[in-house]
Amino acid sequence: MTGIYARLGVKRRINAAGTLTRLGGSLMSDAVLDAMRDAAQGSVDIGELQSAAGRAIARATGAEAGLVTSGAAAALTLAAASCIAGFEVAKMARLPDTRGMPNEILIPRTHRNAYDHALRAAGAVLVDIGHNDRGTGAGIRGLEAWEIDAAITPATVAFAFTANPETIPALPGIADACRRRGLKLIVDAAAQLPPASNLRAFVAAGADLVVFSGGKAIGGPQASGILAGKRDLIASALLQQLDMDVDPARWAAPEIVDRARVPVPPHHGIGRAFKVGKEEIVGLIVALENFAARDDAAHAAGLRARLEAIAASLPKGRTRITGSRIPLLEIDAGDGPAAAAKLQAGNPPVHIGERDLAKGVLLVDLQTVRAEDDAALAAALARVVT
Ligand SMILES: *Cc1c(COP(=O)(O)O)cnc(C)c1O
Repeated sequence: MTGIYARLGVKRRINAAGTLTRLGGSLMSDAVLDAMRDAAQGSVDIGELQSAAGRAIARATGAEAGLVTSGAAAALTLAAASCIAGFEVAKMARLPDTRGMPNEILIPRTHRNAYDHALRAAGAVLVDIGHNDRGTGAGIRGLEAWEIDAAITPATVAFAFTANPETIPALPGIADACRRRGLKLIVDAAAQLPPASNLRAFVAAGADLVVFSGGKAIGGPQASGILAGKRDLIASALLQQLDMDVDPARWAAPEIVDRARVPVPPHHGIGRAFKVGKEEIVGLIVALENFAARDDAAHAAGLRARLEAIAASLPKGRTRITGSRIPLLEIDAGDGPAAAAKLQAGNPPVHIGERDLAKGVLLVDLQTVRAEDDAALAAALARVVT
């Protein structure tokens, strides 16, 4: 199990910080691994496999179509590429050079984050709108509809929205505003799972394209993601991701591509640089089906019981269990940064959630901790919380 890391001289870590990419993302179940192993030993047409994945994503999300990407960030790049190029193969061939073509994506200032680089990577120009009155404590007003109107130009192609449970403005109002103005709405919901009901919530609220990470709570391959949404937008994204070393005379386009609008195969598109393999596609499908069928409450109860057992080995009065979507153990450690440093220097190294570290609070998230490591995690925590 840990043999390969030992052979390579790489330390195996206890990751109680959550599904962080830099620590390897989610851990995969045997069911997912069995499917990937099966996939790895057979040849398929990747377009046909993506079509099957699209049907599974459509069933799980309620969207018209979907495709597997190499991560949520890759899905954002493909979403922007799709909104910019549509079915125009000449535009697909030029990205990320968008000179002379509509390329602007509106984004509320309060939704900007480090992942918007992924939108810009397709050649999109982000146009900030609205103020950050609540974030700065300057006032109570948020983005208003007239500000969307004022920002729209002939170059505007889409509106980008970063979802979280407290997002302001609310998604349904934005979806309505985008629909009335003919703007495509891209929702980054990469980490908005669980609850599993969120697989459907953003599509139901009117998003044209929704992005999820496959390597977070879904428990798929670390390098996988989902783009779900409107059929033609997904078809454009798929065309810009697939390998296109095909003979135009014998090109078998994926089933969701409207051949009347795409008479010739595009060249390799911008997404060819972050292709997704058959193993990741299959692993994501199986992980998604299992995640969608999972009982969120039972899963959370299981995590909470494990956290309670860990808390029982720590000093009384220093711990509490919080977290609505994913149960978390909060530990008062006094000097948070010192405790975190000591945990990381241990054997094995232990990583905890650092969001409230400056307040002296360690956060323990068991989503990426194997149950057999709970005792070692509890012992490491007990050594720094004294
Ligand atoms: C994690 C995350 C991403 C990137 O997801 P990957 O699957 O690692 O590419 C994008 N946006 C947000 C908001 C995220 O939390």
